[in-house]
Amino acid sequence: MPPVRIDVEYEVARDRLFRNIERKGATAAHPELGHSVHVEVEGLESGRDYWYRFRAGDEISQTGRARTAPATGSTVDRVRFAVCGCSHYEEGLFTAYRRIAEEAFDFVIHTGDYIYEYRADGGQDGISVRQHRGNESYTLVDYRNRYAQYKSDANLIAAHASAPFVVSWDDHEVENNYAGDIDEKGTPPELFLLRRAAAYQAYYEHMPLRASAFPAGSQLRLHRRLRFGNLIDLSVLDTRQWRSDQACGDGNRTDCAAALDPARTMLGAEQEQWLFDNLATASARWTVLSQQVYSFARDMRASDPTGRFSMDKWDGYVPARDRLYSRLRETRAPNPIVLSGDVHQHFGADLKLDFSNPKSETIGAELTNTSISAGGDGSDVALNWDQIKGDNPHIRYHSNRRGYIACTATPESMRADFKVLDAVTRPDQPVRVGGTLVVEAGKAGLQT
Ligand code: FE
Ligand code: CA
Repeated sequence: MPPVRIDVEYEVARDRLFRNIERKGATAAHPELGHSVHVEVEGLESGRDYWYRFRAGDEISQTGRARTAPATGSTVDRVRFAVCGCSHYEEGLFTAYRRIAEEAFDFVIHTGDYIYEYRADGGQDGISVRQHRGNESYTLVDYRNRYAQYKSDANLIAAHASAPFVVSWDDHEVENNYAGDIDEKGTPPELFLLRRAAAYQAYYEHMPLRASAFPAGSQLRLHRRLRFGNLIDLSVLDTRQWRSDQACGDGNRTDCAAALDPARTMLGAEQEQWLFDNLATASARWTVLSQQVYSFARDMRASDPTGRFSMDKWDGYVPARDRLYSRLRETRAPNPIVLSGDVHQHFGADLKLDFSNPKSETIGAELTNTSISAGGDGSDVALNWDQIKGDNPHIRYHSNRRGYIACTATPESMRADFKVLDAVTRPDQPVRVGGTLVVEAGKAGLQT
């Protein structure tokens, strides 16, 4: 794009053919923001479909479908949403995004790793169906080009055009397993924050975020609360920007004392208090927390006795998890459902006040989505699954295939269909339901 301001017109219609235009207007695409535009259209009717498109010069965009949320507190019979993440361009085709598009969800939650920052190198796991362009991303231009490459994928375009996205990032939008201002390479924090600022700006430019998320230096406020009638109270969390550095040098650890240090945080003090306030006022049927890394305990004692717990997950921030679960219990926030991604495997797990005691109280359920493509085709179950399942009876479902979760919320239940594809190295594979778990309202825990 030339470094000049481009005038952009937008239209929002009540029908797919734009016969009935609800709203139109003009905005400007500035080079300072990578020629992105962020239009916030107010005053639309609640709980209905709209279609939108853009025009710049002689170019007209494809048409996107949006769906407004039902009015806060209004009676809602049913909401369907997808939970997905970890779309690695090199490691697999984005067929799962196509299947998401075909389901025309009310909204799509993305739990992060929308891009991977790595250089073109044939895939981190030795799997490569296509190549990243360029080196590892460091500068604003690097990250913009990476988003441009990903967003050229027709399956990803179809997913965005099918439904609104509720996005949040994990680590790879910046750098693998970074924590706050600490990267994996020992870079001085003040230097890493320059890279983080570039990555956050590119994220803001390329994601459907409101002006309230406009980056301020190296910071961007991503946590927010969305309500869907009287059915869902959704808190979107950011477990990267404000967390303490991983304990004991990261990786898988056994007996890491620092993981038990209550001074360490996953959300940062301000976001944690914000969330705890949300929980006290949650009154919809389902209290949903959308975040990145799994919060349940995953004990790998049998497969890895010296590396039982992953320090990058809530297992490395045990007192922070205890505070969260205690808060869920004390506020009686209705029917808690925690969403997560990151690990490239599907899990459905009961949340226990004490994971070492199967008889301890179940305070909610967690649904962890596998990847769209990271890790390649995968396998029916992970190599260590047979060893893990005995020590983790709270894990109720697992798959090591690629895919997404299709969630159906009603006043009676939250149903999770774990969708899987048998291959992402070949195009156009069908999706199937690998397993289904249901939470009945008023009854903590997952039913098969
Ligand atoms: Fe990932
Ligand atoms: Ca991740």
